[in-house]
Amino acid sequence: MHVPFCLSRCAYCDFYSVVPKDRTVIESWYKGVLLELRRIAEEAAAHGVAIAPLETLYFGGGTPTVVPVSMIAGIIQEASSLFGLTPECEITVEANPESLLRPTPTAKALREVGVTRISLGAQSTSDRTLRLAGRLHSADDTENAVLLAHEAGFDVISCDFITGLPDETITDIDSVLSMVNASPLNHVSVYALSVVSDTHFGALFRKNPSRFPDDDVERQMTHRLVAGFESAGFQHYEISNFARPGAESRHNTMYWQADPYFAAGPSASSYMGGIRRTNPPSINKWLCLLKDETEGPFGKDSIDEIVNENSARIETVILGLRLTRGVSRTVFLERHGVSIDALFSKAIEPLIKKGLIDDDDENIRLTSRGFDFADEVVRAFL
Ligand code: SF4
Repeated sequence: MHVPFCLSRCAYCDFYSVVPKDRTVIESWYKGVLLELRRIAEEAAAHGVAIAPLETLYFGGGTPTVVPVSMIAGIIQEASSLFGLTPECEITVEANPESLLRPTPTAKALREVGVTRISLGAQSTSDRTLRLAGRLHSADDTENAVLLAHEAGFDVISCDFITGLPDETITDIDSVLSMVNASPLNHVSVYALSVVSDTHFGALFRKNPSRFPDDDVERQMTHRLVAGFESAGFQHYEISNFARPGAESRHNTMYWQADPYFAAGPSASSYMGGIRRTNPPSINKWLCLLKDETEGPFGKDSIDEIVNENSARIETVILGLRLTRGVSRTVFLERHGVSIDALFSKAIEPLIKKGLIDDDDENIRLTSRGFDFADEVVRAFL
């Protein structure tokens, strides 16, 4: 569920979101999501597409905690009555730390309406860097939000961090490790900054690129984080993700397994029946499309790509290699009816010789060197 609202815009972000002027736009979005879910259910039935009870639900953004918890609850309820939720359904809400510190008890309220997992956009533990990035929270706010989430009783509490921010040093990375290790977090995601031209950081990079850590420094930062998290008991289960046992993100694992999913909200993307779609990145255009009887969630206007079998095989490999367990030969054969070796041995063998891929006869997976050169590995399969 894409929640396209933020209280302000961060210096590095080009995701679609708007700062809501009043509650009217939030209410229109809410009604739109409920309508989209109903249309997905009706049209899936009309097209003979079976939707099994949902194993995960994910509210991403934007900043989902900008909308009232009652709306999150209403969407969970609607999804449950239309599609069913499995008893262990993982329900995640992304939140910015300051949004849990409001006088209204947001963390507790989210937990009470069935949210099982909270993902906090911490990004850094340096107040100087947070201010530069345009974030509205401080490092103390993150620590307090994690404690409130812990008291509220979420199964999984995750924080996102970014490496490669301007003026960031190895000392900042050590501070992230100390904060994580002293907290009840059981999941952490770490993403390298991608400098997008049309953002404040894009302009800063053009003016003063030396303020951004280069690739070597960023790699050192990543190695330091991997070693620090692993020695603290986190498993590095995906290129950018670390979890204590049992706290892996089931929702994101579904993407890396190239499983189908549907989505609602402006700019939300889905992958069903071999078709990848993206809703328009505009609340008004998305609402118009939804109300158009001939278009809607299964119309032709939202199609990005019809994934043919050849592309699906490549995706199974390159997405699966993001997971440290890698790609299973058995699963590949069951899904595609052909062995991975028959299709890709010419790509796999040189990568093994270069030390980028490991092969234990059942799974192929990235080595630790392969994690550093994942782009090169991906190119070999294209
Ligand atoms: S809060 Fe998140 S989605 Fe909103 S502008 Fe900042 S990074 Fe982007």
